[in-house]
Amino acid sequence: MNQATEKMPVLFVGHGSPLNAIEDNRYTQQWQAVAKKLPRPSAILAISAHWYTSGSRVTDVAMPEILYDMYGFPPELYQVKYPVSGAPELAQQVKHLLGEDLQVDNSWGCDHGAWSVLCRMYPQADIPVVQLSVNRDAGAREHFQIGEKLRPLREQGVLILGSGNVVHNLSRVSWAMRGGYPWASEFDRYVRDHIIRGDYEPVIDYKQAGESAALACPMPDHFYPLLYVLGAATSAEKPTVFNDSCTLGSLSMTSYLFD
Ligand code: ZN
Repeated sequence: MNQATEKMPVLFVGHGSPLNAIEDNRYTQQWQAVAKKLPRPSAILAISAHWYTSGSRVTDVAMPEILYDMYGFPPELYQVKYPVSGAPELAQQVKHLLGEDLQVDNSWGCDHGAWSVLCRMYPQADIPVVQLSVNRDAGAREHFQIGEKLRPLREQGVLILGSGNVVHNLSRVSWAMRGGYPWASEFDRYVRDHIIRGDYEPVIDYKQAGESAALACPMPDHFYPLLYVLGAATSAEKPTVFNDSCTLGSLSMTSYLFD
């Protein structure tokens, strides 16, 4: 791994529709702007909502397969190439930090939760990527704690990237809506206001938001990557909030950079 002297920021991106990989819009413009602002990472540890497994898993191959794990989109989306290398040495470190509960699993590669964002942030595909799965057996607090254990990677210039959506309810998506339903905006605001105050407990205990939480996260797969990122950040780090909005009724694009 490259020597890096600067502590790397931590990033959560609301990835939204896979079409963001090929559309130029206000969200993807912000992804590009954030990448320009960041120090160049030595490697990226991507925690994508789309690798939702029993137990924690990590990839450690030299060249991860790019997965087109989305269905019913235009053909050009399936022609996006992102020939990125892996970082077996980073995977080793993740194993060291997370211990024996972590399994190596190369049946997965780099999924669209990771590449649809990374192909806009780093179009040269020249920063190695390791994926860490979201452990569906773990509770919210455990995800936060895994993030805490990963924090030392920042000292080595590794970008910890959580990719999901704070609000993600596909059964309620309205392709005609530009903003969000009231409950979507309410939950997004609940999370944002606590994060801005450095008050992470009510975010970990997100169900206390009540009905808006139940509607926003009917499945927590897209919410949990945020908790890894909060764990890897410190509450003293003030986040930059960007793409702060809901779209298609039931998705939030709100994203957080801690630096
Ligand atoms: Zn997704």
